Amino acid sequence: MTRLLLAPAGHGKTEFVISQIRDIKASEPFAPVTVIVPNAIQARGFRQRLSAAGGALGVEVFTFHSLYAELLICAGQPIPLLLDPVRIRLLRFIVDDLCERGKFPLPKGEGQGDGIRYYAALRDKPGFITLLRNTIEELKRARITPDVFSTSVKGLSARLEEIALIYSAYQNWLQTQNWADNEGRGWLSAIAIESNLKLGTDIRLLAVSGFDEFNPTQLAVLSLLANRAKETLITLTGDTRSEHSQRTAHHRFHRAQAAIISNLNLQPEAMDSSSMLTPSIANIESRLFEAAKTSEISETSEVYFIEAQTRALEVRSALRWIKACVIRDRMKLSDVAILARDLEPYHAFLEEVADEFGIPLHIAGGQPLIENPAIAALMTLLSLPVNDFPRRALLDSWRSPYFDFSGHGIDSREASITTLDEISRAGRVSQGLAQWREAFEMWRKKKAATDEDGESLNTSAQDEHLEEKFESFISLLTPSAQAEIKEYVAFIESIIGDDPALATIYSSKESAGLNIVGRARDNESTSERDVAALRAFKDVLRGLTLTESVLPSDSLAYKDFFNDLRGAVEAATYSFTPESGVMAASALDARGLSFQAVALMGLSEGEFPKQEREDILLRESDRAFLRERGLPLETKLHGEEATLFYQAVTRARQKFLLTRPYLADDGQAWEPSPFWAEIKRLTGNQPAARVRGDARLEDATEAASKVEWVESAQDFDVQIKNGSEALRARMNPKAEGIYEGELFDLSERFGASHGWSASRLESYGTCPFEFFIAYGLELEPREEAEDGYDVRILGSMLHKILEDVYGGQSLNNAAQKVFATAPQEYGFRPTALWTQQQAELIRALKKTIEVLNEASQGFTPHTMEARFGMGQPSLVLKTSIGDIRLHGYIDRLDSAPDGSLRVIDYKTGGAAISANHLKEGRRLQLPIYALAARDALGLGEVTSGFYWHIQKAEASSLKLEKFDGGASGAFETAIAHVTNHVKGIRAGHFEPKPPGDGCPSYCPATNFCWKYRKGF
Ligand code: SF4
Repeated sequence: MTRLLLAPAGHGKTEFVISQIRDIKASEPFAPVTVIVPNAIQARGFRQRLSAAGGALGVEVFTFHSLYAELLICAGQPIPLLLDPVRIRLLRFIVDDLCERGKFPLPKGEGQGDGIRYYAALRDKPGFITLLRNTIEELKRARITPDVFSTSVKGLSARLEEIALIYSAYQNWLQTQNWADNEGRGWLSAIAIESNLKLGTDIRLLAVSGFDEFNPTQLAVLSLLANRAKETLITLTGDTRSEHSQRTAHHRFHRAQAAIISNLNLQPEAMDSSSMLTPSIANIESRLFEAAKTSEISETSEVYFIEAQTRALEVRSALRWIKACVIRDRMKLSDVAILARDLEPYHAFLEEVADEFGIPLHIAGGQPLIENPAIAALMTLLSLPVNDFPRRALLDSWRSPYFDFSGHGIDSREASITTLDEISRAGRVSQGLAQWREAFEMWRKKKAATDEDGESLNTSAQDEHLEEKFESFISLLTPSAQAEIKEYVAFIESIIGDDPALATIYSSKESAGLNIVGRARDNESTSERDVAALRAFKDVLRGLTLTESVLPSDSLAYKDFFNDLRGAVEAATYSFTPESGVMAASALDARGLSFQAVALMGLSEGEFPKQEREDILLRESDRAFLRERGLPLETKLHGEEATLFYQAVTRARQKFLLTRPYLADDGQAWEPSPFWAEIKRLTGNQPAARVRGDARLEDATEAASKVEWVESAQDFDVQIKNGSEALRARMNPKAEGIYEGELFDLSERFGASHGWSASRLESYGTCPFEFFIAYGLELEPREEAEDGYDVRILGSMLHKILEDVYGGQSLNNAAQKVFATAPQEYGFRPTALWTQQQAELIRALKKTIEVLNEASQGFTPHTMEARFGMGQPSLVLKTSIGDIRLHGYIDRLDSAPDGSLRVIDYKTGGAAISANHLKEGRRLQLPIYALAARDALGLGEVTSGFYWHIQKAEASSLKLEKFDGGASGAFETAIAHVTNHVKGIRAGHFEPKPPGDGCPSYCPATNFCWKYRKGF
């Protein structure tokens, strides 16, 4: 007897199936019962509910895929399953082979032959092989054989004919090698049931629960088994009442119903049931997408709405609500769930916030393997030889907590890594073993020079030891250049090492590798997650080894092997199930499950309903045409998002929360989804709570973590209070207090004997905090080493060439002499463009000399590169706060016809310099140099001067003689600023003040300064 029972969602269909099983078990305890559910998540949920109800003995719960395997075993025809990594590699192999054959086209009119050309350009494109796999899977699910498909598409287009060729080659390979994919196992199990008349006859009850669609293979197997089992019970979501028989929300269920009715030839019955949902959710269930009378709409305290500024805040709000359900409503962790149409954009936020809130999370359907921190670190380590040991990746790997290098004589303490970092910066390493080795050589030389000056650096022995460790690290990670897959896999396994939890007395030290599993186990809070990911990674390695044993393959280069490995890891997921945890799932994965409280995220436009897209390989027009030829290929544009939403909403029995982000990633307003509006309509349009990023929780009792409590609480201990005050003061537009740069008296450190340079005082004039960071704390921005020279080196080269030219040498000679030794002299690694760069610099210098000569008609060069202070007399300014001593280098002084002097300061950068810069105290060099020439060096009166932009070949708009009050006005202004700056520094005033045109890129505080404003 076969029955098809229909009931709306939340009417206890699963409970009904369980009660039927229990009834049978009560009278026939050993009766075999077979249950089929749509996926592994539901199989697990069903088993849990069944055992909680006390009737799990002798009940087998399958998905269709596991049922196919079981049927083939029972029929004595087990067949190995083609795992996904092998399937992907097999398809790649087939495509490559067919592309090679397609290179030799047949004469016109003789068709495609047995090769492919249409898809040849796509063969290496990311995602192409996965698309092919999905298309073949769909054809097989529809029970369309390669022969039928080839015949149907013959003469239609090369595009479809080539898919047929690939499909035929794939299926042919499976049959000759005696392997099967999941769908193939379905075909074979249907044949096995037909040919083995006893198969399935012992089933007392066959129960099918939780489905919303059936494919032709499933229907064939189900119909055969239903004829054998003593009793078959199929439950589906639906409603037999005529006014509900075509509900929009039930669209997908109608198709499943129609398929079952026609294949099993039966009539549906209404299940005797009542809603198990709370009244307001039951009201939504019955009215969703239906017209509703006003009397049927009522505000509810069981459905909530939150609009959050960003996805991150949305997740935080949803998980806070979930935590409240667990703590305040005493729900079990397994009774609450967090759902989204698509979980992928929420993965990272969910993990981070659940961790902060202390919520064990079970992400259904697995998480991307490549995103696990242990696997990401391992892939970076394995990529080092492929990318020729890039500096940043190498240092990160050496420092990673996932690797234990101690068994290989490699010291990974921070001190060694810091020294290695310093060596690589000094040697300007970007990547390449040659650069690393050169950097060690340079470091040795530099150290020797520094030692002679009496500076204390690491001892020679320590440095040499580090170089040895570096070489051990390199040889440990360098595989054979050419090898078979299994050899590369063995190499990676030896790096990962054994799991110490499984170690025996026979385990050797060598087998420990980098002890990655042991290191992953060391961190209790993440060990479960990381060990599960490392297991999944080993499965990927096994899959790759298997491909080599079943597919013809030669040895390959490590780079090619790594690319295959990376592709397989990117396609893999891993999952781990905490003993008890809150389920996070996509709306698809959550179908058929039931919870007391559900938070459904992502109700903004375009997210849910999701836009359905046409299949790229089998387009809608192809499908329509093939349907006309009798192939059961369905449209991909079913318009079933409404059903999916109905299923998501009815997962909640008592409490339901809808959330959405109201700003998109680019900061634009994000409209609500029509589904959001629909639930609001059905709940009386109650307002949504708004969550903004800059507003803290108003009520500290709502805090879900220590961090939130600290942020929101008003009354807490003194340390937190101080921290909070510091933060508040920092946000205040008017800075005050030591946390914003108002320090204490520093007049001792910067007293009368302190020598000042103009550039440091200019730094204070630009922004006091920049001065404090750069010269008070002497912090430097850590920049990645790059080949080629930087602005500082360029400035030194150009200054030196101009000095030599004005000293009497020809431009070419002076430039060639400087360029010849520049890499060693100034410490940079020339790029491939170095020769062209030299030519361009000579061109720029030629022009600058010509233009400067024109601007110097009537002037004669007087002095080049004059030093004041630093062994020569300093410039001493008599000011209201006492003497201020200055030092520096004057680039050039020219004599005017009247005997007075003109000062010139060369600038390499092109940033404009105007009189305002001097008025604001940000540019002081020119007047200070003029004063130094006159007062410190006694060279004569300076009456004019400008900055000279070398590369632009032009003078600055700031000219001493044109300043208000002429050169003496400029001197007075400069002296006033110098006085104020020194006064501010001595008083400890280092408040950050972003310049009007934004912060300079060279400011070392740009990465952490709270007043940073993007500038030049
Ligand atoms: S980032 Fe801007 S405000 Fe902050 S210290 Fe640097 S220049 Fe000053």
